[in-house]
Amino acid sequence: MNASTTQNPLFYQTSSHIPLVSRAEGIYIWDEDGKRYMDGSSGAIICNIGHGDPAVLDAITQQAQSTFFTYRTQFENGPAVELAQQLVHHAASSLSRVFYVSGGSEAVESAIKLCRTYHLSRGDGGRYLFISRFPSYHGSTLGALALTSYAPLEIHYRPMIKSAPKIPAPYCYRCHYGQSYPTCSLSCAHALETMIKQLGPENVAGFVAEPIGGASTGALPPPDDYFAVIRKICDKYSILLILDEVMTGFGRTGKLFAYQHWDLQADIVALSKGMASGYFPLGAVMCRGDIVDSVLATGGFPHGHTYAGNPMACAVGRAVLKRIVDDGLADRAAAMGERLLQGLRRLAVKYPIIGEVRGKGLLTALEFVSDRDTRTPFADHLQVGNLVTARAFANGLIVYPRRSINGLSGDHILVAPPLIIKETEVDELLDRLGRSLDEASTRLAGA
Ligand code: PMP
Repeated sequence: MNASTTQNPLFYQTSSHIPLVSRAEGIYIWDEDGKRYMDGSSGAIICNIGHGDPAVLDAITQQAQSTFFTYRTQFENGPAVELAQQLVHHAASSLSRVFYVSGGSEAVESAIKLCRTYHLSRGDGGRYLFISRFPSYHGSTLGALALTSYAPLEIHYRPMIKSAPKIPAPYCYRCHYGQSYPTCSLSCAHALETMIKQLGPENVAGFVAEPIGGASTGALPPPDDYFAVIRKICDKYSILLILDEVMTGFGRTGKLFAYQHWDLQADIVALSKGMASGYFPLGAVMCRGDIVDSVLATGGFPHGHTYAGNPMACAVGRAVLKRIVDDGLADRAAAMGERLLQGLRRLAVKYPIIGEVRGKGLLTALEFVSDRDTRTPFADHLQVGNLVTARAFANGLIVYPRRSINGLSGDHILVAPPLIIKETEVDELLDRLGRSLDEASTRLAGA
């Protein structure tokens, strides 16, 4: 037998041994040795309704027996239409149209291309630039990477892309301007106007932002009045506001969509992750109806992906959305998130390696520092986020580590369990995390 046929040919970023999964149910995953892990990060902040949901499994079986796949330009399908109707029903009033994709990066790519096509359709073809923020994460494909500012994932590819102009995100713990809220007058939001003027408003198509920063910053809610300033500036210069709700959507932050925290009306919204909760690849772009009307009246939107809007993906999305809405999982996320945040703050009192606890709903994060007073990050080689994550894994808890951002922050971990988590399970999570922080602190003290 050829040696290469006996080796596992799969390759990912993980270099160390990871266990083989045996099964998953609710908020738990078991490996082949029978060890149980609490899924404290919902995978990559995706499994919002938890694992093995009977209603979703039932929907999958029924749809598989009917029609698994038809191509969107050849057949309309019931699940796609019904899911779109439900999405529009639950979304902000500005968002009346749905364009399906199969993942978060596809959603972001589609959003910016739709925005560009809209400006072209109005005879405003000079508008092609997108402004985004640092730090940020918008996906791994090259267009989404151009909007992203998170060195560990984009630095190698910078020569290949035309990086988008960026303004500081509202990262109050490490304010770019050295100010503090609310006396800062939201300099980071007003930076958008300065950047637009610098680029020439006639060249700017859209502004792209995560409503609550996720993968790059670790659960970063903005000040409550941040997006009102952003919305006003976008309107003043006829620039579209594109929200990347890939991580924050579908109940994660305590509202069905994070923009509902501020009654914010976006022009285009990118969705994925919790939309099908890991049961199938699915994503969407939602947008204003007049954007679609204008685009369709002038030659259409020359863009699309083969798997988009297939019956199985949409049947799953329909069942997941029903579960989230019928069982009030956004409200549950708000309540359990509060309990979790309180517990994390108690851990911060005990463990000085925690510089800041932040988040909203069940999207929470810990940022680590070597000196709490000066907010100095740990040295990069100590990989503190990975260390805490490894200790948690050993203790049967999964959390999601992120590396220091462009040297401008500390390592952090995301703690974001499925929205179905119960009070006692939040306490169990905190207990396991506490033990892991204890072990990590001891190791760092000896380092
Ligand atoms: N946008 C945001 C805000 C994300 O968090 C992610 C994934 N972490 C993406 C886009 C990309 O999604 P995907 O990995 O499904 O392409």
